Amino acid sequence: MREAGRASIIYAYESLLDRLYSKLPSRGAKASRFELPRLFVERVGGKTLVRNFKQVSDVMRRDPRIVMRYLLRELGTSGNYDEESGILTINTRVSTATLNNLTQRFVKTYVICPTCGAPDTRLERRGRTWVLVCEACGAEQPVPPL
Ligand SMILES: [Zn+2]
Repeated sequence: MREAGRASIIYAYESLLDRLYSKLPSRGAKASRFELPRLFVERVGGKTLVRNFKQVSDVMRRDPRIVMRYLLRELGTSGNYDEESGILTINTRVSTATLNNLTQRFVKTYVICPTCGAPDTRLERRGRTWVLVCEACGAEQPVPPL
């Protein structure tokens, strides 16, 4: 009776360790695997073009229109996304540094899981609430609506 109890405690401890270790390495690997491509920005007249906007959105696994909505709102300007060419046009002049900063902020809020740091997430709309759902650890984090 006593032996069996001890064995099950050891088993529970070992399976706990297994679960811990199985989570740890993938955590670091996933976080470091994520690299945001550099934005290819061009100013044309009074407008700013992001030529690889689709590619960057694809890496983040986000709809380009959602990323655009965020950028335009933060910049307080208008613009449009051309699905055919994958180019974002912003109707004002914006520096590359500003666009890079905003995109990094988008990634931090709407892509990277705050619990485990993995980029394997999706955005879910639940009524008026937007939730960042992590496919790596299952965590859910409400985020500001877009
Ligand atoms: Zn996670």
